[in-house]
Amino acid sequence: MSEPHQARKRFGQNFLSDKNIIYKIIEAIRPDPADRMVEIGPGLGAMTEPLMSRLDHLHVVEIDRDLIARLKEAHSPDKLTIHEGDALKFDFGSLVADGAPLRVVGNLPYNISTPILFHLADYADKVKDMTFMLQKEVVMRMVGDPGTEEYGRLSVMLQYRFNMRRVFDVPPGAFRPAPKVMSSIVRMVPRPASECTAKDYALLGKVVTAAFGQRRKTLRNTLRDYLDEADFAALGIDPGLRGERLSVDDFVRIANHMAAKGPQPA
Ligand code: SAM
Repeated sequence: MSEPHQARKRFGQNFLSDKNIIYKIIEAIRPDPADRMVEIGPGLGAMTEPLMSRLDHLHVVEIDRDLIARLKEAHSPDKLTIHEGDALKFDFGSLVADGAPLRVVGNLPYNISTPILFHLADYADKVKDMTFMLQKEVVMRMVGDPGTEEYGRLSVMLQYRFNMRRVFDVPPGAFRPAPKVMSSIVRMVPRPASECTAKDYALLGKVVTAAFGQRRKTLRNTLRDYLDEADFAALGIDPGLRGERLSVDDFVRIANHMAAKGPQPA
């Protein structure tokens, strides 16, 4: 085989090398041979190979041309479909044309973790579940509860779409090169459509962004362009609270109240 691969920082390359951790991740995913699965960022194949040994077929999305060349050399297209390019631009819906729900997995590049989670949230209705390795700090924000320091825009927007659970933590020593931070495995299962009741998802995003834009300010201040005292009274929400006190459902009620009121400020 070719020269050893030099890890590229710009692609967030920290390769898993601890066999026990890799085994634990595969066990957490529980692949079934017939699953429609896609791995984001297969890299040198630490997870790819054990996944392939348990699946009839696997899709991967990889941006690094050198790694793509290695994957092509090592695996037949009968078993592995390689999608070359940026996962942030990849149409995950194209993998579920026949309706079988998608399972998404990956040790994600940490430098693009938030945009990739938002990109994937757009496919929630086509997904069965997602299991990712991410920076622990990001996972804590994803699963954070109201009233905690971790709770913010990422928590609300993802918890609206997914039930999420931190499965276990992974120390830096499990990777080559070792990252500076702890990592965690997170499992995300889309909530049923009947529970996702925001009339206008973009408006929900606007409200949540405004409420957490200045965390220390009260809702009366952060949402002043959208809601007056009568609106707060109608919603039964105290305008003297900070955004971090509101549940996901409170934010949905606010956005739906605004949608019912009509056009909003730009
Ligand atoms: N799965 C491998 C492992 O666990 O050892 C590699 C994980 S490494 C943290 C992240 C992988 O994502 C690398 O292979 C990197 O080249 C790839 N990657 C980085 N940015 C990407 C992007 N925008 N789209 C697709 N793959 C990307």
